[in-house]
Amino acid sequence: MSVVLQGARANAPGDAPAAGLAARKADFPILARSVRGRRLVYLDNAATTQKPEAVIEAEARYYRESNANIHRGVHWLSQHSTDLYEESRERVRALLNAARSEEIVFTRGTTEAINLVAYSWARTNLKAGDEILITTMEHHSNIVPWQLVCAQTGAVLRVAPIGDEGALDLDAFDALLGPRTRLVAVAHVSNALGTVNPVARLVQRAHAVGAVVLVDGAQAVAHTAVDVQAIGCDFYAFSGHKLYGPTGIGALYGRHELLQAMPPWQGGGDMIRTVSFEASTWADAPQRFEAGTPNIAGVVALGAAIDYLRSVGIDRIAAHEHELLAYGTRALEAIPGLRLIGTAAGKAGILSFTIDGIHPHDLGTILDTEGVAIRAGHHCTMPLMKRFGIPGTARASLALYNDESDVDALAAAIRRAQDLFEGK
Ligand code: PMP
Repeated sequence: MSVVLQGARANAPGDAPAAGLAARKADFPILARSVRGRRLVYLDNAATTQKPEAVIEAEARYYRESNANIHRGVHWLSQHSTDLYEESRERVRALLNAARSEEIVFTRGTTEAINLVAYSWARTNLKAGDEILITTMEHHSNIVPWQLVCAQTGAVLRVAPIGDEGALDLDAFDALLGPRTRLVAVAHVSNALGTVNPVARLVQRAHAVGAVVLVDGAQAVAHTAVDVQAIGCDFYAFSGHKLYGPTGIGALYGRHELLQAMPPWQGGGDMIRTVSFEASTWADAPQRFEAGTPNIAGVVALGAAIDYLRSVGIDRIAAHEHELLAYGTRALEAIPGLRLIGTAAGKAGILSFTIDGIHPHDLGTILDTEGVAIRAGHHCTMPLMKRFGIPGTARASLALYNDESDVDALAAAIRRAQDLFEGK
């Protein structure tokens, strides 16, 4: 995948060259457990990834050794905790190659990051007749916030179509851009298809008509190097839990001039400069958007997840998952009655499929009895499923700790499910 993604950058010095990641399974304690008496084969990584010991330990250590509220304390522990929190912001900045750490706002995850932009930027900048352009493959969290904005402002949601293989129709996308387009919101990588969108190119075209661009990076950051300056986007959102970090923490990158011009979206402690009953004034970004006591332990553990990712080497991970995707594609294509949904040329490690005569939910349940964890359903992409004329798919999604034995277990379990349904 590293070769196909736009906005990719070289690894930091010290990252090792591409090599097998077999030993890394041992970094994830949960992978040693059994499920229903079977070895756990975890292939639901697009929903959430498992956590390495380093991340689990970082969160526990924070509570054991460093816990105090941040920013407001004069005592040593509060300053120490603040330092850890802000060091994680710097790690996120480096992960995304943002120009400055003030461009990183901590949020609960991708969903909250997108909603922040919808509430703060969109509601103040859009008016009736303005257009928001998304694509058919967006996750509900990159659809519904914009529908809410449209309902409030009179703006109009436009949707760029995709082809049968699941690639964005670039000509149609370009044709939908115009003087009314104020915002483009697009996934970097589709969670349901694995399609990698040419985000730098999309940003270029969108900027040419004066639109602001938000990239939903939920499915990208753990799988490829991301460079927001190379992509050129105005906003970039991601979730820590899909990046081997904890749940309940993520971040929004926003260009500094944009963030500084945006009003707060939640009021409370830590986001103000002064408060009086007559009027209050706001802190600069990013504090302006971090009202109340944040998920400090989550932020610290997210920093540990980024350290872990970099120690393995993001380009090694990308190469490994790319090879495993090719292996998995061959294995699944060999199964009669199996139809892959999402076969675009540039793809990340997602295998979405249907099987003749077996509902995805039934398949997921049968696979579960064999310890194989996949996801079945619409994957929070109901309009996309409608586009393919199906209620949902079964989806196996890869992470750095998966290997050929996991894919073999998946393929074997699918064949046994088929035998079961055929009464063999
Ligand atoms: N966008 C995409 C492409 C996703 O895959 C997901 C998670 N499935 C989200 C947004 C939402 O992420 P979260 O639930 O962590 O906020």
